[in-house]
Amino acid sequence: MTVDLVVRGCRIVTSTATLEGFGIACDEGKIVQISTDSTLPAADEVIDAKGNFVLPGIVDTHVHMRDPGDTVYKEDWTTGSAGAACGGVTTVFDMPSALDTAYEVRDISTFRRKEEAARSQSVVDFALYGLIKEDNLDDLVKMVGVGAVGFKVFFSASAPGAPPITDGAAVDAFSRIAKTGRRIAVHAENARMIERNERAFKTMGRGDVMVHLEIRNNLSEAEAIQRAILFAEATGAKIHIAHMSSGSGVDAVAAAKSRGLPVSAETCPHYLLLSSDDYKRIGSVIRVNPPVRHKTDSERLWLGILDGTVDCIGTDHAPHSREEKVTDDYWKTLSGFPGLETSARLMLTQINSGRLSLNQYVKLSSENAARLFGIYPQKGALTVGADCDLTIVDMKHEGVIKAEELQSKSKVTPFDGVRYRGKPVCTIVRGNVVMEDGEIVSKPVGQLVKPAS
Ligand SMILES: [Zn+2]
Repeated sequence: MTVDLVVRGCRIVTSTATLEGFGIACDEGKIVQISTDSTLPAADEVIDAKGNFVLPGIVDTHVHMRDPGDTVYKEDWTTGSAGAACGGVTTVFDMPSALDTAYEVRDISTFRRKEEAARSQSVVDFALYGLIKEDNLDDLVKMVGVGAVGFKVFFSASAPGAPPITDGAAVDAFSRIAKTGRRIAVHAENARMIERNERAFKTMGRGDVMVHLEIRNNLSEAEAIQRAILFAEATGAKIHIAHMSSGSGVDAVAAAKSRGLPVSAETCPHYLLLSSDDYKRIGSVIRVNPPVRHKTDSERLWLGILDGTVDCIGTDHAPHSREEKVTDDYWKTLSGFPGLETSARLMLTQINSGRLSLNQYVKLSSENAARLFGIYPQKGALTVGADCDLTIVDMKHEGVIKAEELQSKSKVTPFDGVRYRGKPVCTIVRGNVVMEDGEIVSKPVGQLVKPAS
């Protein structure tokens, strides 16, 4: 038989093993054989991985592509998915919120509108969350019918000026979604505490970026995570703590897991690798919600990713223009920055320095996310029958992260100038080679990824 694609000369990495001298055969987008190079079938296209490590394609559970909407000057699916491919990411989970609430994904028609924007432009696969709002509870289960991978709820404002959901509506939504088995990603910050702190610090005349840490303090996250866990326990809903940033958050999730509750958690490279010590050096660009916190928090998060309390590394890819990020006035700076292109390089560098293994990284970067959101083993697995999504990484490639070289429209990152060792050099989505040596080499092939049941 002749297959579509063979990747030979691989060091195949799964969460439990690393296999040298193996290859992967792909036909019609699926892995059809994994075997020693000498026993691989003939293929129309052959890629030599040259002994590089081949991982299940990275699944990022947290991105904001800003498209559709008036925010496409920040990012669109073409540039955002190019960034994903360059970062070794083969599936993105796009968040349903929008800075202009007219573009939220909140019912079937707005879900389909975003699906169309993504399908026409994206070079990587995508899954879409539905937004839980005060007034769309009857639309939630309907979005499951068209393929929502999960839901997102904001305990703090979902957009500037947008009112946070009330606890009563949140509990009602959790109850309805519990019956569908879909997972709810929670932005866990206490809106009322934050609003009060904002007023107080504004009155004091504070305008430096360090005030961000005081306004959105650890208690505001810890309280919201505890509340989400209580709601999950009461309703039976599965929850996923998005962008967890605090040590007390890790403790709360660990306690919930030890009680057998369906609680999972995601953190991001900026919470693992930056701290309050970096605010002065990086300046306004570091502003993100929740904030980069203290060294003690990042140390606790590291323990959490190593002991399994934290399940996923997402990016919270949140592009803004340079003018929106680089300011000398805290109150005028927008929160968030792009992360899709820097996450793998940063984490591979940590692997090279011995802080975690590539096998652990497979769990954190793809396998756990796919399992938690019901798309395993289609995604997150190197196994016969899975989608042929591959991230080939050169662990010896060294360089410096440069903001101006990002594919994203948003040429800002708190990691500008940071040295890395280890980089994705080829990204394959369902057998389509979409990125080679930092170049996008494919037309849009991205498809909506739906959970199996
Ligand atoms: Zn986000």
